[in-house]
Amino acid sequence: MTDSLGNWRRTHYSKELDDTIEGESVTLMGWVHEIRDLGGIIFVLLRDRDGLIQITAPSKKISPELLNDIRKLRKESVLGVKGIVQGSSKAPGGVEVIPEEIKLLNNSEQPLPLDPTEKVKAEIDTRLDSRYMDLRKHSVSAIFKIKSTMLHSVRVYLEENGFLEINTPKLVGSATEGGTELFPITYFEREAFLGQSPQLYKQMMMATGLDKVFEIAPIFRAEEHDTLRHLNEVISIDVEVAFADNEDVMSILEKLVHNTIKEVKKKCKAELEDIDVQLEVPELPFPRLEYDEVIDMVNSKGVTLRHGDDLSRAAEKVLGEIMDGYYFITNWPSDIKPFYVMPHPEEPEKSYAFDLMYKDLEISSGATRVHQHDLLVERIKKQGLNPDSFQRYLASFVYGMPPHAGWGLGAERFTMCLTGMKNIRETVLFPRDRRRLAP
Ligand code: ATP
Ligand code: MG
Repeated sequence: MTDSLGNWRRTHYSKELDDTIEGESVTLMGWVHEIRDLGGIIFVLLRDRDGLIQITAPSKKISPELLNDIRKLRKESVLGVKGIVQGSSKAPGGVEVIPEEIKLLNNSEQPLPLDPTEKVKAEIDTRLDSRYMDLRKHSVSAIFKIKSTMLHSVRVYLEENGFLEINTPKLVGSATEGGTELFPITYFEREAFLGQSPQLYKQMMMATGLDKVFEIAPIFRAEEHDTLRHLNEVISIDVEVAFADNEDVMSILEKLVHNTIKEVKKKCKAELEDIDVQLEVPELPFPRLEYDEVIDMVNSKGVTLRHGDDLSRAAEKVLGEIMDGYYFITNWPSDIKPFYVMPHPEEPEKSYAFDLMYKDLEISSGATRVHQHDLLVERIKKQGLNPDSFQRYLASFVYGMPPHAGWGLGAERFTMCLTGMKNIRETVLFPRDRRRLAP
């Protein structure tokens, strides 16, 4: 038998209890984290969003019926407690609550699919299978509080800097950058795809006069490989700015990253402690390395790479050993960057593309874009794509498209940097990879 919530409402979270409210009556809500029955006294650790609070039930002070109800509690059951706050040097947090009345709001079956007290460690797959239970651990929920703070401060920063938030379709009729990474879907009687990037849409917005736009939304990539930094569905923070070039948007990006780290450090002290991370605010501006320089650096460390190659994983790793923190790689070869990236006018094999790296991890790619229609068509053809499938996009370049630039920042990769997580799956509530489509 369980009790109804009735008119009981939480008056305090665990963190709000301290000796200033000693003697006051409070109502707490949460889960039974642990229960210790010493016969004459029972200790229940109640867990809520913010932490743990000790409920102390001495047989001398409370009724035998209440003691009996407390004795029957099982781990992870949902509990409401009305009681009196009392100072205690032994209790975690310096206070405990002497119960006067409890409500068992729901029972938990035993054994549990995993241990929220973290005494028994579980593999990531077990944890993801029972994510609702995994997230009861504060060391796990902390990651998502940090991610939420990051997304919030990104939004505030961009809005304060004159950006308009937009929403572009995720059901699309043709490929953004080439066909290999797309998920095909059935769209009534024809084939469509899940959007791999808002790229073409945010560029079309540049021809509208809205000038500075951003979008925070899912992107879908049919990446076949199984790595610690790729998923098939991630959140992309996308920015596009008219009358601007690569330098302008790199400056926006580094300031945004810098500001976000400051905000997270300020607002997520407890969460950073929960995951044992000391966040350092990087200095501005971030170092800038040229692609050619990077190739030479990597080669000098014994990882063979030719000028013109994309960075291999081995190359990223040695680079991460040399470069500590955030840095840009600029002047990428045009051939290994998408068609909408602007080539240098005098040296067209080089481009105005950049990546933002954190140690060995790429977190953002951006560039000055091609805004001239004919050059764009030429670039599309050169990359083996058919301009006909980009007709509607290309049309926006015919009637007054200003010069523009932008970038896409992976929200999960950035969260990895903020939380020190080595596996991107840790930064997504319900990750989607080649093997996982549920829950
Ligand atoms: P990588 O080379 O690491 O596979 P990419 O160059 O293919 O990444 P972009 O197309 O440049 O990725 O996307 C911009 C940003 O979006 C990346 O820097 C990254 O932060 C994020 N991103 C893209 N694809 C993925 C993915 N499959 N999983 C996680 N993040 C991704
Ligand atoms: Mg990239």
